[in-house]
Amino acid sequence: MANIIDGKAISLQIKDEVKAKTARLKEAGIEICLAVIQVGTDPASSVYVGNKKKACEYCGIRSESYELPEETTEDELIGLIERLNSDTAVNGILVQLPLPSHINEDRVIMTIDPSKDVDGFSVNSVGALCIGRKGFRSCTPAGIIELLKRSNIEITGKECVVIGRSNIVGKPMALMMLQENATVTIAHSKTADLKSVAKRADILIVAVGKPKMITSEYVKDGAVVIDVGIHRNENNKLCGDVDYDDVFDKCSYITPVPGGVGPMTIAMLMYNCVVNM
Ligand code: NDP
Repeated sequence: MANIIDGKAISLQIKDEVKAKTARLKEAGIEICLAVIQVGTDPASSVYVGNKKKACEYCGIRSESYELPEETTEDELIGLIERLNSDTAVNGILVQLPLPSHINEDRVIMTIDPSKDVDGFSVNSVGALCIGRKGFRSCTPAGIIELLKRSNIEITGKECVVIGRSNIVGKPMALMMLQENATVTIAHSKTADLKSVAKRADILIVAVGKPKMITSEYVKDGAVVIDVGIHRNENNKLCGDVDYDDVFDKCSYITPVPGGVGPMTIAMLMYNCVVNM
């Protein structure tokens, strides 16, 4: 039977640490400000943006909200980011993705000043991670590292398999596990015999974007299973990329959905807002 990794509790610890830091900074006359930009009214994005603003409020970070209409042009959005880049009162800039299809996401992300790239998506941030330099770490994988460390799960020397190679989860996750001295394999849709590759893992991190795809057949006895996926099932209930009930008895630790990785993403965003202060 698995130990459940409580992402809600661990994310609260991190937010409380951020809150304590912003309080100290406030005493010294320094206010932290996150600019949050949303283009259009995609309901899922609105929920994420709302949660990020709530977390800012909890942590004592001022959030500045820019809700732009769907028809905003790329140049208008770039213009706003350039203005926020040069605004010394703004510490972090977050552009909620996905953007409407007429806007080039890469160009937008690349416009954000690297010193304000709290999402950690820019080439600068990812490059710094790749060569082990200081820089903003992508929030979801950074949150997973915190989940492992704060649950006292040893990473050094372990076999880690990351399923998924997206730029925002899979690739930075693999780099962070490598930095923590795991032996890392990245699997993807072209991986041959995924089951046997996944079964090598002491720590299996699943970011495949397919509801309940990973069953006990993919999991080694006693493995740690981290589920990044978020989906709504046929009953409108949240589920992950891992078939939780099926793997539960096989693993030593598991993250639930909801309440596992999800809350960590926002907590690490808050952490990134104060990390250089
Ligand atoms: P993407 O769709 O960008 O990437 C999915 C990855 O999984 C790709 O690399 C793809 O391989 C691989 N893949 C797809 N099908 C298979 C398969 N059958 N076998 C092996 N590999 C496969 O997703 P993201 O990385 O953005 O997100 C993954 C999941 O995590 C989603 O459910 C998303 O909603 C969730 N998520 C949750 C967050 C949180 O805060 N908890 C934050 C971000 C994402 P290939 O490259 O070959 O196509």
